[in-house]
Amino acid sequence: MVMPMTSNGLRALEIPDSLNYVGVFLYMGCNLNCSYCINDPDQASRRGDLFPNHGSYLSPEEFAAGLNRIPPRSDLPITLQGGEPSLYHGSKGLGTLLGLLHHKVDLLVNMVSKPDKLVESIAPHKDRLTRDAPYPSVRVSYHPDEMKRIWGEDAPNELVRRCQRLADAGLSVRPEKRDSDVGIYLVDYPGHPEAEAEMARAAKGKVPFEKKEFLGVYDGRLYGSYLYPFSTDLYSRIGYEGSISCECRTTELLIDPFGFVWRCHYFLYQAMSSNRMIEPYRRLREMDFRFSEHRAALCGALEQAPSGHILDPDFTVDQVFAFQPCDSYGHCIGCDTKIKNNRHQSLYDLNIPHTSVIIRNLQLPDFLMRRAEAGHPDGEGKIHD
Ligand code: SF4
Ligand code: SF4
Repeated sequence: MVMPMTSNGLRALEIPDSLNYVGVFLYMGCNLNCSYCINDPDQASRRGDLFPNHGSYLSPEEFAAGLNRIPPRSDLPITLQGGEPSLYHGSKGLGTLLGLLHHKVDLLVNMVSKPDKLVESIAPHKDRLTRDAPYPSVRVSYHPDEMKRIWGEDAPNELVRRCQRLADAGLSVRPEKRDSDVGIYLVDYPGHPEAEAEMARAAKGKVPFEKKEFLGVYDGRLYGSYLYPFSTDLYSRIGYEGSISCECRTTELLIDPFGFVWRCHYFLYQAMSSNRMIEPYRRLREMDFRFSEHRAALCGALEQAPSGHILDPDFTVDQVFAFQPCDSYGHCIGCDTKIKNNRHQSLYDLNIPHTSVIIRNLQLPDFLMRRAEAGHPDGEGKIHD
């Protein structure tokens, strides 16, 4: 099928029904430094140093030109995330982008910056963030240690008050999840066991509040349920030496602040924290973003190259969705291999586990295979079919 041209002269993208998520990492910097931040594959409290502001990310207009190639679908919002996406483009970019996008949008923010700017950004475009969905579109994360460092012991109440301010932007802020455009989410990190009760008290009757599974290693134990054994802790906890290969494909579009599209979170975070895409990005701009044509010249020597660029006139989703070999198995980020619902709530309703990536031909050594099949007491599950 030949897709129509968009108003920017780029061809609309053909989107397979299996596309489950569009995540745009608008801005990788953050005003917090959470020890468990999943942007840092080692979760080693060094997030603040990992993602400097390059100052040359795609502009809101360029992002909109790329993202508006994706035909809007009521059940597939574009999720703006980071880092902290409200800081994008000097904290002015989010509003501009919301005004240009044709899609419904989900927003993942921490609301640590004064809420006035966010209210100002959202208010003229609030219809982008309101939709009939079973969960809030603006998901505000609660980070007890970092937020208490800034706001003191009143941090839970302060965050609730900031969420309530979003009503001034025209969003619905109600206690029930189904009725509210705004919700508070806490990573169920074992290091702050009192946080859930504190936030539950503060949010009661005001804003929906939920826990999110902690993904990672704490005190030698792996937390989270993963479809593929040792996918996240092969090196960090098991201490394996060597590499394990497989074939892997994604069901998501993950787009970095430069507009590159990646096959998984690990590849994206590694590229952003190593700064290795700054020079290819600078050169690609001079080539009118024709990534497919110049891929070899730009990324020939890179082991983990992007799958495409959202402004490349020849970009297709097929380029991202094909199975490709990978030698980095075991470094996978939990959000790619954890068992979860897809956008149709497949796990809850049909008992069909969904993962963001699909892995096959996994070359796991026999001793690890046996250990996985036995189900390891430290939290690693059995191999699933
Ligand atoms: S607020 Fe989110 S992105 Fe920022 S450091 Fe904490 S977990 Fe990471
Ligand atoms: S196997 Fe893991 S590291 Fe390799 S592409 Fe898949 S998710 Fe990424």
